[in-house]
Amino acid sequence: MEEIRLGDLIQTRKGHPCGSDRWTVIRIGADIKIKCCGCGRIVMMDRAEFVKRRKKTIEQGPVPEAETLRQMTGQSEGGTP
Ligand SMILES: [Zn+2]
Repeated sequence: MEEIRLGDLIQTRKGHPCGSDRWTVIRIGADIKIKCCGCGRIVMMDRAEFVKRRKKTIEQGPVPEAETLRQMTGQSEGGTP
């Protein structure tokens, strides 16, 4: 499965009623939260649903998904020298 990064700019198969079909990923994990680039509306869905709706990733976020998830859990002790 393709990676889902925080900050990804994605295009959905179906456009939003506001006319935009671009969204920014603002939360990842078990649930994915995306924000409409047209009207700012935030939608939450599970991972499988997100993958179904996503047509393509236009611009990938800067931090690898695994790294973001590791930071989110707060169990990063022992990681740095
Ligand atoms: Zn919208």
